[in-house]
Amino acid sequence: MKIGIDIGGSHIGIGLIDGSAIVDSREKNFNQEDKVQIEKTILNSIQEMIKELLEANQLSLKNVELIGIAAPGTISNGMILNAGNLNIQKFSILSEVKKYYENPLQIRNDGKCAALAEKVYGAMKDYEDCVFVNIGTGIGGAAFLGGKLLEPKRYSGFEFGHMVVEQGGRLCSCGKQGCFETYASIKALKTKVTQVLDRDSDISGKFLREELLMKNDARVKAEIAVFLKYLKTGIGNLIDIFEPEIVCLGGSFAYYEGHFVWKQFIENLREANATFNEGELPKIVAAELKNDAGMIGAVIE
Ligand SMILES: [Zn+2]
Repeated sequence: MKIGIDIGGSHIGIGLIDGSAIVDSREKNFNQEDKVQIEKTILNSIQEMIKELLEANQLSLKNVELIGIAAPGTISNGMILNAGNLNIQKFSILSEVKKYYENPLQIRNDGKCAALAEKVYGAMKDYEDCVFVNIGTGIGGAAFLGGKLLEPKRYSGFEFGHMVVEQGGRLCSCGKQGCFETYASIKALKTKVTQVLDRDSDISGKFLREELLMKNDARVKAEIAVFLKYLKTGIGNLIDIFEPEIVCLGGSFAYYEGHFVWKQFIENLREANATFNEGELPKIVAAELKNDAGMIGAVIE
């Protein structure tokens, strides 16, 4: 049995993992107070939830082969160097967690974890040249060429969410302006739609998808159009760079498969000049493991 820890922009999830199966899991959403002391919240949650999971399943730490962490932002030497969405800088998470557990530990960027899970067990398993884009609170991802995960020596790389798609555009948590994720993340869409409707932004992804976006409201439609315009730009760029056989879209956007926003996005990618080799779009699919991919990928060695 392995333990997978998925630290997202708005929650932490911990699961007992057996291959591609989550045997049992616990989840905690971060409230405003948690976010003020985010490092402490993460470390406490890890200890509490691991204890609870092991007890509930009559296991002990001796039964745990590996503890894997999927963490947002730039990861280097066991540290989260910079995770803008959580306001974390230089957090030595691995050495902190090591204080409590003797089990083997590993940490990897969450986008890469989810990509690995989809490559090994999910939607990309039969393909060699793949691009995975995680679209949720932020935008992350990874690419495989010839079946191999591309990994730079310095930093994490593949900061898809921080490629600039609008010069001088919206200010990003990373400090740059006009980053892809400030327009095409689900968080960006949710923020804008709740803003124009004058509603609290603290709503579920399901409510956004099934209620707010379905409104026959010109302001909502205008925000969806902005989101779609930049989503096409960003994904079109990635297709041109990697020429993948398949593009797998994960994060909360994976739940949009079949939704009119998803259909419109695919249609927009087929427009003239959306991609360089137009007419020859790769397969575009939703992540099969959905939001479980981070936790499952965290323990892939
Ligand atoms: Zn950015």
